[in-house]
Amino acid sequence: MSNSDMKLVVVGAAGRMGQALIRVIHETEGVKLHAAVGREGSAFIGKDAGELAGVGPLGVPVTTDPLQAFLDAEGVLDFTTPATSVAFAGLAAQARIVHVIGTTGCSVTDEEKFQAAARHARVVKSGNMSLGVNLLGVLAGQAAKALPAAGWDIEIVEMHHKHKVDAPSGTALLLGEAAAKGRGIDLAGQSVRVRDGHTGPRPAGTIGFATLRGGSVVGDHSVILAGEGELVTLSHSARDRSIFARGAVTAALWARDKKPGFYSMLDVLGLS
Ligand code: NAD
Repeated sequence: MSNSDMKLVVVGAAGRMGQALIRVIHETEGVKLHAAVGREGSAFIGKDAGELAGVGPLGVPVTTDPLQAFLDAEGVLDFTTPATSVAFAGLAAQARIVHVIGTTGCSVTDEEKFQAAARHARVVKSGNMSLGVNLLGVLAGQAAKALPAAGWDIEIVEMHHKHKVDAPSGTALLLGEAAAKGRGIDLAGQSVRVRDGHTGPRPAGTIGFATLRGGSVVGDHSVILAGEGELVTLSHSARDRSIFARGAVTAALWARDKKPGFYSMLDVLGLS
């Protein structure tokens, strides 16, 4: 460990992603765990964050006090809930540090608050921090552009573990946005998020979403372009949460010397 290591705070430290983040920080050169923040009332408060994540003691107890945790920190890695991420965005802006937001299911109002925080913080936000999914988004955009809307319907199918609380996934929406951009259309006005009962034929030019939930699936996504007599499927399967955690750490290091602003993983990966 060296003095120049980037000092990172993991919020939501007891969560599935929180623990993956602690493990990846531990094994990555150039970063160190500065503090770990958990939810008020959690059984993990006061416990060593490293022991919690299975990498042995790190001398960093899980705290409920973000103000203390953000003191002298250089970045915050945040995979929590929309309301929590909005609150932490305000604190990261005050501290003028890097805020990497992986939380999904955020509303338009939440997004406006992240944009406002980005006047002072360096915010990197993405519904999926993995290299593979961000590349898939670029490919989906190219495919949507190349295959004419008149003959090719776009459907996005996703499956996640049974504990996931928002739908469609942030990744499915990211892929939908990429396809919509490729087609030059507005996703909000053109998406079909649910089908049930006598729906009538598929409205031309729309982008459909289908959501599956079950078991321990980390995240599977397919973008299907369905034409007359042929089908193109672009897909990604996440086998391990460490791909998102590695992406988040890469994003923090990338943003370390950037100006305040709102960035995406495409900026970090040079795919924008
Ligand atoms: P999880 O429920 O296992 O973890 C969330 C954690 O946040 C919990 O431990 C909870 O106690 C904690 N938390 C909630 N409010 C808090 C507060 N006020 N202070 C401190 N901690 C608080 O969920 P998860 O599977 O780790 O996913 C978390 C989020 O990340 C979800 O929105 C999920 O969709 C998203 N996610 C994003 C990516 C990506 O690459 N962008 C990848 C995986 C998951």
